Amino acid sequence: MSNQSYWLRDVRSVWHPYSRIREIEAEVFPTIVRGDGIYLYDSDGNRYIDGISSWWACNLGHGYPRIVEAIRRQAGELQHSMIGGASHPAIIELSELLISACPTGLTRAFFASDGSSAVEAAIKIAVQYWRNIGRPERTGFASLEAGYHGDTLGAVSAGMIETFHSPYRALLFEVHRAKSPYCYRCPEGKEPAGCLTECFSSMETIIEEHHAELAAVIVEPLNQAGGGMRVYPAEYVAKLKALCGKHEVLLIADEIAMGYGRSGRMWACDHASVAPDILCLGKGMAAGYLPISATVVTDEIYSSFIDTPEEDRTFYHGHTFSGNPIAAAAAAETLRVYEDEQILDRAVCAAREMSAQLGYLAALDCVGDTRQIGLVGAIEFVEDKAARTPYPPEKRLERSICMEARRRGALLRPIGSVLYLWPPLITSPEQIRELAAILADSIKSVV
Ligand code: PMP
Repeated sequence: MSNQSYWLRDVRSVWHPYSRIREIEAEVFPTIVRGDGIYLYDSDGNRYIDGISSWWACNLGHGYPRIVEAIRRQAGELQHSMIGGASHPAIIELSELLISACPTGLTRAFFASDGSSAVEAAIKIAVQYWRNIGRPERTGFASLEAGYHGDTLGAVSAGMIETFHSPYRALLFEVHRAKSPYCYRCPEGKEPAGCLTECFSSMETIIEEHHAELAAVIVEPLNQAGGGMRVYPAEYVAKLKALCGKHEVLLIADEIAMGYGRSGRMWACDHASVAPDILCLGKGMAAGYLPISATVVTDEIYSSFIDTPEEDRTFYHGHTFSGNPIAAAAAAETLRVYEDEQILDRAVCAAREMSAQLGYLAALDCVGDTRQIGLVGAIEFVEDKAARTPYPPEKRLERSICMEARRRGALLRPIGSVLYLWPPLITSPEQIRELAAILADSIKSVV
């Protein structure tokens, strides 16, 4: 069946996330039928580089034989069995591997299916932890402006993005929001060369003033991804950890996007030598093969949930598919592949090439800023380079560039005035050049 025939059927019954309906209905889009390595193929036989790893999940690309085999094996043995009051080998193996891969001190993994659910669990765990240890007044949260932590209501309270979430404002709880460490448009008017993370003072004030009522601070370490790939210094996270420690505020690191090697190290927190109290993982956990996420906590947090003769401290929270064996088997095999096949080294090698390519793109008149962390490369478009003025949003410039890139063989999506490359970690330097060339040609043909 052709792209056209699929599209005609699709637009009659599918509701597409994060997609304008008029645009979906205006033009035939590819129906992807197959993946192989970093490439996706549509039903007309066109090939595309998966330039954003299918929403940041497919770190090992597509059709990775070891993961496919692990899924097949597990599906033939046990497809699902709850872990409420019971267990199965797949979740035990995954938990052991995950804990040994996590920053020191994180010893217990709680499982769900999506990143948002991992964040919801983190928020509830933080609040209940304080209640468990006799400090029930600590129910507040602090986060960063332009933080993104998912689309469920707790996650939206923590990481509200105006364009996405304003209709739900009435349903959200109050969160203290510190200034975004947005280096290109520095809130303190600094340039990166002279930066002493002065913007941290905004977070500092919140913690100093409100620590007695704060349960936790939640941030995306080193890159506010959904907020427009705002890459910021590791020093910020190190300072945050120290201040949270001083005032006994829990630090929740949302590494749903940046974890699993995206930053060039296994965890973005590693760049700051920081171990958070709670670590949220998702997306790449099973390399994009199956939905699975985790909220990993310290022993201190976990043991506060042990019930006492006087009090039931159970964490009454869970999902039907928490710890699903097939997803767990895929996630465990993903960690083994990272170890056996030097995935981080390959990512670092690809990142070097990406850095060179971003250097070329930075010279274009319409590119105000390029930024990179590990295998994430972002470019921010501006109408006036000197004044750093963005293009008017209604121009939909970034979307036009993505449509052009699609015609030329790469799948990309913009975030506001930012376009980014987030290819699988197994992408070779030659393939990075291929992807960057498509992007450069697309920009030149549109702007
Ligand atoms: N946290 C971060 C940092 C994310 O980038 C995302 C997804 N983009 C989420 C949470 C939510 O994850 P999910 O879409 O799997 O619910």
